[in-house]
Amino acid sequence: MTIKSLRELFLRLPADGQVRHELRSFNLGMMGASRLPSVLELARRLGFDVVLTKMRKGQRGRLVQDAFASSGYRIEVNEDDDTATRRWTVLHELIHALIHPRHDPFAAEQYRAGPSHFYLEDELEEERDANAFVEALVFGDGALAAGVSLHGRDTKKLAHYFGVSLKTMDIALQKLDRGWNA
Ligand SMILES: [Zn+2]
Repeated sequence: MTIKSLRELFLRLPADGQVRHELRSFNLGMMGASRLPSVLELARRLGFDVVLTKMRKGQRGRLVQDAFASSGYRIEVNEDDDTATRRWTVLHELIHALIHPRHDPFAAEQYRAGPSHFYLEDELEEERDANAFVEALVFGDGALAAGVSLHGRDTKKLAHYFGVSLKTMDIALQKLDRGWNA
């Protein structure tokens, strides 16, 4: 079980104050009692367009080079996925774009979120990385503990509160039990 902290994520980020600021604000927003912070607005503020796309079943999203996006990339998300899954996908692809820079401009398309994709060893490592850092963004720095103290350990309520799937929520709670204090 990989548990990563927001701090570890920040150490991997380019020395760009704005990126850190936006991610920090998003994480703080997860602790708020009001509505969930928008992943769409986060992506756009960081210069990524987000587009719903028809994809084969099981594929969640991908990062695509796009000269019209100010970051140089757009995030494509499977239009058939539910909102919680789409939220996760956008964050997952954002993390790839921010911490897994590739020098080969044509390699970006290999960043796919989805179980049906065949991964090379280092890709697998990057997939784990990306998901662990999305967890840090959504649940880290005390956000998960705050949610639990607000709603108790009701998985359904918490999944709704954090805007994640039941399965993701379950895993996060297991990690909390194993000493997630990041
Ligand atoms: Zn991925």
